Amino acid sequence: MNIQVLGAHNCESQDSKFVSLLIDDALAIDAGGLTSSLSFLAQQKLKAILLTHQHYDHIKDIPTLAMNSFLRDSTINIYSIPPVYDALATHLLNGKFYPNFLERPQGKPTIKFTVIEPHKTEQIEGYSILAIEVNHSVPTVGYQITSADGKIVFYTGDTGPGLAGCWEHVSPQLLITEVTVPDRYEEFAQKLGHLTPSLLKQELISFRELKGYLPAVVVVHMNPKLEREIEAEITVVAKALDSPINLAYEGMQLHL
Ligand SMILES: [Zn+2]
Ligand SMILES: [Zn+2]
Repeated sequence: MNIQVLGAHNCESQDSKFVSLLIDDALAIDAGGLTSSLSFLAQQKLKAILLTHQHYDHIKDIPTLAMNSFLRDSTINIYSIPPVYDALATHLLNGKFYPNFLERPQGKPTIKFTVIEPHKTEQIEGYSILAIEVNHSVPTVGYQITSADGKIVFYTGDTGPGLAGCWEHVSPQLLITEVTVPDRYEEFAQKLGHLTPSLLKQELISFRELKGYLPAVVVVHMNPKLEREIEAEITVVAKALDSPINLAYEGMQLHL
């Protein structure tokens, strides 16, 4: 399994993109930086897109991707929970803000949206996909993705603390999760459902207690302005846990 980090941040600029991950050039998770990072040819190779939740930084490129798909007369497969469909239908693709690619062209809409049910393993494009609810300010699911050759990654999406219930259902070799702000913003993180380095440490301790091991950890969704501070604190956490934790960056390649 080859995972490319297309976007690793929670703010966009020339050098930072919203969170998007690309697995084996075929499967994308979250759409904050898809069209802005991928060539037309690479967009054409996408077989399915999994969305974790409805926040704009995770669905931003769905309309632009759909437009490109519509113009070459093809469809795109999107999988997520019902609130994400509602947000797309009500706001981004409501026919006023942008064409309603969920229903048009009539009879063969550009977007084929499939509702995914948490805790029920689905076979999608040769991968086993398991959606698990996490703790964020809106309904959010993380995805465990297992390849045909048994490689397993779990991406939490945006999440706050309290992942013990989630850990029971997943056994990844690689954990991709979020750290949005450094420790001094813990109150903000708790309130909005995000993690700080110290909050992540607690979650990883609970993972190790439950599962008896720690996967390699890569964090995304950093606030670019606070990234050096996050990095310094993550280094301390990784040392304390004696386990690797790396900050993702745009263009990062992960091999499993
Ligand atoms: Zn969010
Ligand atoms: Zn976000």
